[in-house]
Amino acid sequence: MSAADDPREYDLDALRRRLLPERAGERSTSIPELAGADQHLCAIALALPDGSVRSSADGTKRFSIQSAVKPFLFALALADTDGGALDRLGIEPTGEAFDAIKLESGTGRPPNPMVNAGAILTCALVDGDGPEERAARIVTGLSAFAGRALQVDDDVSRSEHLLGDRNHALAHLMRDEGTLEATADDAVAVYARACAVLVDAEILAVMGATLAMGGVNPVTGERVVSARIARDVVAVMATCGVYDGSGRWMRAVGVPAKSSVSGAIVMSAPGTLGAAIVSPPLDELGTSVRGRIGAEALSADLGLHLFG
Ligand code: GLU
Repeated sequence: MSAADDPREYDLDALRRRLLPERAGERSTSIPELAGADQHLCAIALALPDGSVRSSADGTKRFSIQSAVKPFLFALALADTDGGALDRLGIEPTGEAFDAIKLESGTGRPPNPMVNAGAILTCALVDGDGPEERAARIVTGLSAFAGRALQVDDDVSRSEHLLGDRNHALAHLMRDEGTLEATADDAVAVYARACAVLVDAEILAVMGATLAMGGVNPVTGERVVSARIARDVVAVMATCGVYDGSGRWMRAVGVPAKSSVSGAIVMSAPGTLGAAIVSPPLDELGTSVRGRIGAEALSADLGLHLFG
C-alpha cells in the first residue's frame, strides 16, 4: 500500500484543494440557519479501525447533522424495539425526494428509515416517556456512536419544528394510517431535535466507522449496537441513503452513505473505515456537490468500492 492509497497517509488536504474550485450547487433554504451556512466550508475526515481519526482543514468546524442522523436513529429504534422496528417500516428505496408525502401502499408504513417519514417514525420508536425523554435518549445514543457528548443547536431545532410543514404533514398522515402512536407535533419535535444535533466531519466519520465496524466504536471500544443491527443499518444505507440518487451513488461511489441538507455525507465502508465529507452547496437531489465528487475520488483512491 502506498501513501496514495493508504488511509493512514492519504492526503486529505490535497483532496480538499481539488474540491474547493467546484462552485456548483445551492445551500438549502429550508431554514434560515442552513440558508446562511458557510458555503466555503469543505471538510473530509476518516475514522479507522485502530481508532485513529484524520481530517482536512475545516475538520472540526461544526454544523447540524440533519439527515445524516437517520441511519443512527434507525439503529437506536432497532435496539430499543429488539428489531421490532423492522415490522413498522419498509426498507425499499422510493425513487422520490426525501420529503415526499407518500407512505407504503397497502400498509401505511413509511417506505424506509432514510426518508423523512421513516425518520420521524424511528424517533417515535426509541425508548422514552414523552418527547423530552425520547429526545434525550437519542442525544445519548448518538453520543455513544460519536464517542463524545453531543449538543443540540436550539435555534436549528426550533426552526426545523416551526418550518417543517411537510414533516408535520407526514406525521399527520402516519397518525391517520395508525402507524404513528405519538402525536404528530411530539413526533416532529423529537425529529427536529435529532436533525439539530451538532457534529463536525471528524465526529461524523467516527459515527460512520461505528456502523462500519459492526457496532463497536473504534475510538472508545464501546459496543453501541449489535453487529446484526449495524449490518441491517448499513444495508439500508446502501439501498436508500442518497434518496432518489441512491442507485447512481452506489454505481459511482460504491460505499453505503447517507446525505443531508446541511451538505454532510456520512459513509460506512464495512470493515474498513468510516468517512465524512461536508460542504453545504447541494445538487437538485439534496446531495452535497463537493461531497459527491469527493466521495467518488476517495472511493477510487482508497479502493473502497464494494463491487470494485
Ligand atoms: N431536517 C431536514 C428535513 O427534515 C432533513 C432533510 C435532509 O437532510 O435531507 O427537511
